Amino acid sequence: MSTAEAWQVVVGLEVHVQLATKSKLFSPAPNRYGDRANHNVDVVDVALPGTLPVPNAAAIDLALALGLALGCTINRRSTFARKHYFYPDLPKGYQISQYDAPILTGGAVPVDGRLVPLTRIHLEEDAGKSLHGEGDDASYLDYNRAGTPLLEVVSEPALTSAGEAERYFRALRRLVMALDVCDGNLQEGSMRADANVSVRRPGAPLGQRVELKNINSPRFLAMAVEHEAKRQVAELSAGRAIAQETRLWDAERRESRVMRSKEDAEDYRYVDDPDLPPLVVTEEQIARVRAALPELPDAKRDRYVGALGLSVEDAAALTSERAVAELFEGALRVHANAKALANWVKNEVLAVLNARGLESATVAQVITPAALGALVKLIDEGAITGKVAKDVFAELAAGRGDDPVRIVDEKGWRLQNDDGALAAALAEVVAANPGEWQKLVDGKDKLLGFFVGQVMKRCGGTADPKAVGQLVQQALRTQRG
Ligand code: ADP
Ligand code: MG
Repeated sequence: MSTAEAWQVVVGLEVHVQLATKSKLFSPAPNRYGDRANHNVDVVDVALPGTLPVPNAAAIDLALALGLALGCTINRRSTFARKHYFYPDLPKGYQISQYDAPILTGGAVPVDGRLVPLTRIHLEEDAGKSLHGEGDDASYLDYNRAGTPLLEVVSEPALTSAGEAERYFRALRRLVMALDVCDGNLQEGSMRADANVSVRRPGAPLGQRVELKNINSPRFLAMAVEHEAKRQVAELSAGRAIAQETRLWDAERRESRVMRSKEDAEDYRYVDDPDLPPLVVTEEQIARVRAALPELPDAKRDRYVGALGLSVEDAAALTSERAVAELFEGALRVHANAKALANWVKNEVLAVLNARGLESATVAQVITPAALGALVKLIDEGAITGKVAKDVFAELAAGRGDDPVRIVDEKGWRLQNDDGALAAALAEVVAANPGEWQKLVDGKDKLLGFFVGQVMKRCGGTADPKAVGQLVQQALRTQRG
């Protein structure tokens, strides 16, 4: 057994999911990213004396939706707690969170068929932002983010590798996007993970964990976990102990460094928030949220396989991003050829998206569902060849027109089955290649393809290859007598 195999990596993730509500968790200020600093701030967000928080019902509905989707226990009565610490971006001196009675407990995130168990999911508010190094010695504060609603999704220490942690993050992101719980925008920090990493010998109790803060992408998460696990193995192998600490992952330098030694829960002096009564969830509320749940990615994938006959790989590719599934299903309503549509989406549409470096959410910019459906319909009707279809697709993807039928007609790309026109084209080709034609007549059948190709070329690729093949055969039979 090599040393590398003698250590097991254990990861538990705390993912902060920013909720897609209109307003903040306890104030009516807009929950919006990118505004001018300190322009989205209500008196509650900056803790002006005498102000009181009022819970946002929409945020609670989103928590319930995620809880239902992940099979969590919904606690009918949960409480808000104050988590105290001092930092300039936290004007109250405490963050409103949930501690001993979170809104959701248990549940699991499905990751490639395996269920990764959750400890809890709780509601909390985000802090503001400190801005350092803006060209002078000062630090600045932007409270636009203060009070933004978050769900903190806490997993059990049940992930066993960097790769699995990455897939967990991706699976959770797909799910919250499918549910409209979160916009999933990683650049804007809509999902941020803290990774708790430890290593141990197989069968041994859990090792000392180190927490890596604020990782905003699945890829960085994998790198950070990988790096940290190696660091811990090196420390332990050298006979040193792992310190309980919080480290910051530097995505540019690809290394972590100590931020602070880790607080214990008692350092935060949690108390129930006297300004907020216990949060009571009713059966009616749960039933209403349940009735409005959309189909989730895994269920969609299974339906594509079961009802539409797609392969598991195709179904997975189409359902991993909601906008892609919407494109596919929209096209399917126009023209019911699931397999062909799946191929087009996978091989052509997603290729353009990748080539342009666009997010999947913008897939409808490449082609609309109506255009995709109409395009495949043209092929299936025998109105255009696959080759012409690619040209039509290129026009659509370049924004030159949005109606395949119109493009085909305007360009004169409709397949020619007209015997007269094809016969005329063949006559021209024969006249231009009399020697080759004679060899074909004399039995050199290999030349058949050449004549079909020449006729196709003369018709600008719009001739129906099958019709041309039959025509050449027929002419040959006549000649050969
Ligand atoms: P805190 O909120 O202070 O970070 P928690 O006890 O709530 O502490 O734990 C947070 C996360 O740490 C959870 O996701 C949990 O799975 C993970 N965790 C706890 N112990 C370990 C460990 N030994 N190795 C890896 N992850 C761990
Ligand atoms: Mg933590």
